[in-house]
Amino acid sequence: MRSFSPFPALLLTCSVAFAGAVQSRANVTLHYPDATEVSSASGVALHAYNVVNYNLYMDWYAALSGENHGFNGRMKVSFVPSLSDPLDSIRLDSNPAYLHIDSVFSGGARLATSLSGEKLTVYLSAPLSGTDTGTVEVYYHETDPGIAPAQDSLQRGFYLYYAGEQTVGMNSMNVPATIAYTMSEPSDARDWMPCYDEPSDKALCEISVRVPDGFTAASNGLRVSKINNNDGSTTFSWKENYPVSTYLMCATAGQYALIQKNADVDGKSIPVQYYVYPQDSLQAVEGSGCNIDTVISMMKFYSSIYGPYPFEKYGMTGVEPFQYGGMEHQTITTLNRADEFNRRDVAHELAHQWWGDMVTLGTWKDIWLNEGFATYSEAMQLQHDSQTAFQSEMDFYASQFFIEDSTQLRYAIYAPPAGYIFGLAEYYKAAWVLNMLRNLVGDSTYFSIMRRYRADYEYGNAVTSDFIDVVDTVTNSNMSWFFNEWIYEGGYPVYTKSFTQAGDSLALTINQDQTNAPIFRMPMEVDVWSGGKMTLETVLDSLQSQTFKIYIPAKVDSVTLDPNNEILARYPGQNLTAIDQTTTSPTTYALLQNYPNPFNDRTEVVYKLPKSGMVSLELFDILGQRIETLVHGYQTSGTHTVAVSGAALASGVYLCRLIAPGSRLTTKLVLEK
Ligand SMILES: [Zn+2]
Repeated sequence: MRSFSPFPALLLTCSVAFAGAVQSRANVTLHYPDATEVSSASGVALHAYNVVNYNLYMDWYAALSGENHGFNGRMKVSFVPSLSDPLDSIRLDSNPAYLHIDSVFSGGARLATSLSGEKLTVYLSAPLSGTDTGTVEVYYHETDPGIAPAQDSLQRGFYLYYAGEQTVGMNSMNVPATIAYTMSEPSDARDWMPCYDEPSDKALCEISVRVPDGFTAASNGLRVSKINNNDGSTTFSWKENYPVSTYLMCATAGQYALIQKNADVDGKSIPVQYYVYPQDSLQAVEGSGCNIDTVISMMKFYSSIYGPYPFEKYGMTGVEPFQYGGMEHQTITTLNRADEFNRRDVAHELAHQWWGDMVTLGTWKDIWLNEGFATYSEAMQLQHDSQTAFQSEMDFYASQFFIEDSTQLRYAIYAPPAGYIFGLAEYYKAAWVLNMLRNLVGDSTYFSIMRRYRADYEYGNAVTSDFIDVVDTVTNSNMSWFFNEWIYEGGYPVYTKSFTQAGDSLALTINQDQTNAPIFRMPMEVDVWSGGKMTLETVLDSLQSQTFKIYIPAKVDSVTLDPNNEILARYPGQNLTAIDQTTTSPTTYALLQNYPNPFNDRTEVVYKLPKSGMVSLELFDILGQRIETLVHGYQTSGTHTVAVSGAALASGVYLCRLIAPGSRLTTKLVLEK
């Protein structure tokens, strides 16, 4: 799910806006299962039956035509016993604040029920055991709250808005068109359908919705029928052929135009669909930000790194209003109409089809397995086009996480506290954890890990320890040290340094100054600049204060920790290349990633000077030999661009070094011929 806007522009007012966004999620019901239903090892819900199939019918005709604000529904649940004891009753989740249970039948016989809190117990007429399959049909209605339905705060699970001027939440807005949709994550499916509402119990599903003529109802899987009822209504029926968690089931109905193309991915033809307001059709076809062809190319990219697209179709429905950016309902993402053609949002929700929908978190404590993976995939989608865009995206993630960490609560990624299930650590810090893992093990191993994780858990659920086990298996090592510090504990390292030199030996002391956080063990690159040469060393830093001896024959001028920004950390007093990328009038020295990178015949390096003075910009090979002096002399403050020609150079990695009064910055250029 995307519960906030990722745009840097909007975040210039950011800490306040962000704090508000996160705070507003504090009312999310973080539903951990009953203690009696939890297996001790992983926290995954263990219950007396497994759902095999949900067959749901909802009649939205009256709601969409304005006659009534609720709807009638019938949920047919098929299930098998999962424990050795005979099964004489099942407990379904059903929130009585929204759902009124009218009757429950099985095989034509009415069954006794009882309701306690949000648990509906259905007493079976005869106990089931072994491989017996039971089926119950629950007839219910979504209660009409008896008030204008467009008051957001009162709607949950099922949302209904009528066209026209009205109050939505705290604001007055003009709703452009009548719309109805469901939204469940994490635990609101029980507000619109009786179900076993735990993400670990996946089942197949069939959803049918009756709507007024002129409306289209979209849902999970493939459409199996569209029946004109000859009474001013049409019934759309959808069937999902892959297991789905209840929070990923959905239905959406609006007066849509459908833009569809088939994507040829991995030898399969996958329908890709945009359900848009008719006035948005052209944008879906040929819009410049993101259109249906962009979605197809994203699908191909993810398939190339994560394996084939896992489902039978991929659709997106635009809705307005929507409290969120987007929600990755299985095969049919719901997108805020304002974000419908935004590359980041579209990439994020598409990536969830692999990470979240195909491999689903085992419990809500493992939310980073959904959100961190989707967020990092979103950044990788940018990297596919531009390394510069990727780096600035990762810098943005870091800066936003630091703001949350310093102004709100510090918490571990695993098992976030109430109000932080959609906190920025789950998105941005978790994306960084994956980026650091990738840097540690290398691309080839990293993608082997992702493929193995998929192979082991596809169409099922995984918890955090499952992912770590995959990492250990693929790397043939024990990486628990890495996950312990980054996933099971909060915070991040804050590094400072000092150094002395005796003869040809540099004594570099690295301190970890963070409080209320673990001492981190991380391999760290260190740049040492001496006598016009740059030496890149890697040290394994693991103590609060640790001194490394490095052989440097000439006088050391400067040392830069983590020059390529590979660790999610702060370095007080050290300028980093990524600082200040968006500031037009620079306040600090900055050397930006060259673009394009990798490059072939020509690339450009941009650097920023907060004040005028002597500057030199030089190009080195990876061994520290100076290749070219690009700039040497007095320059005025501001932003400068220098072209680098690759014509006379061999393929490989080069380092570009900016030296200005009190500042030495490095960036890495990759030349590919
Ligand atoms: Zn998400």
